Amino acid sequence: MKTTAAVLTEINKPLQIEELSIPPLKKGQVLIKVAYSGICHSQLNEIRGMKGEDRFLPHTLGHEGSGIVLETGPDVTKVKPEDHVVLTWIKGNGHDVPSTQYIRKNGSFVNSGAISTFLSHAIISENRLVSITKQMPLKESALLGCAIPTGAGIVNNTAKIKPGQTVAVFGCGGIGLSAILMAGSINMTNKTNCTTIIAIDIMDTKLNLAQTLGATHIINAHKTDSLKSILDITNGQGVDFAIEAAGLCETMETAFCCVKDNGGLCILAGNLPHGKTIQIDPFNLIKGKRIVGTWGGETSPDYDIPLYEKSILSGKIDLKPLITQNYLLPQINDAVREMETGAAGRSLIKLHDAS
Ligand SMILES: [Zn+2]
Repeated sequence: MKTTAAVLTEINKPLQIEELSIPPLKKGQVLIKVAYSGICHSQLNEIRGMKGEDRFLPHTLGHEGSGIVLETGPDVTKVKPEDHVVLTWIKGNGHDVPSTQYIRKNGSFVNSGAISTFLSHAIISENRLVSITKQMPLKESALLGCAIPTGAGIVNNTAKIKPGQTVAVFGCGGIGLSAILMAGSINMTNKTNCTTIIAIDIMDTKLNLAQTLGATHIINAHKTDSLKSILDITNGQGVDFAIEAAGLCETMETAFCCVKDNGGLCILAGNLPHGKTIQIDPFNLIKGKRIVGTWGGETSPDYDIPLYEKSILSGKIDLKPLITQNYLLPQINDAVREMETGAAGRSLIKLHDAS
């Protein structure tokens, strides 16, 4: 059996669309007909060589998606053929099979990790799959692989934001917007004790989208001093939580400075290029500001993804506004460029027709 894949052959080169042969499934692997894949900064960082030396070239890419199970390898118990599934980079229950190799026409190999989603048919490790019901649209489901678990997970699991608290979100890409969407859903159910949600970005289109999704205040950091604006909004106190999802030194440093003394928490979700560091004033730590990183919003996929599915199907959260661009696999390099220039929302790649 064959798959059509976008392959990274060299750093900083366009991805190549190639037809590859699929090897037999190993113990704990599952063959998926991929419906949709998201694209996020992690892939951009891989393509641009921001993660340091890449020992796995040539390799496939992509770590959030949705699809349908075609075949299961030995010992797979979590899913069965025809199940609809979310494909996520975050480890859940089941076998962990860290790598696989697709085969080129000339017999050479293309490496793949436990999950890849920029391809029509993909071998995925059992622990990167979560079943969803057939009522759940596969299009929105793709966002349950990275953007939503990370962004919404920070709100629910890392920060545990409560009604009436204040949060500043730096960077309104997929993760920042998912955090705003989840924080905004708190306000839908608690109208009297509103959570203050401050969105910070440098693009008005993204800020407008943030407002649609639930931001109560927006700051364009190119036009105004974001730290000063946040202090103005919070009567000089600072915020309970700052979420950094822009992946820049400057925003990480500002995010730390803008949290309250005595318990304010700064959460870093963005990635800096390999080797870059940030500076913080230790006196701010002594004053009680705290700073942590997040690993996928501390998400437990088998527990959290079904909860997000429930919230979507009941109308509590709506992911449609988050999806702002749609591409097909041959246009993948356009999607990468769009991501680099900072398009609003999340781009989806459609691999197969599905609802
Ligand atoms: Zn991601």
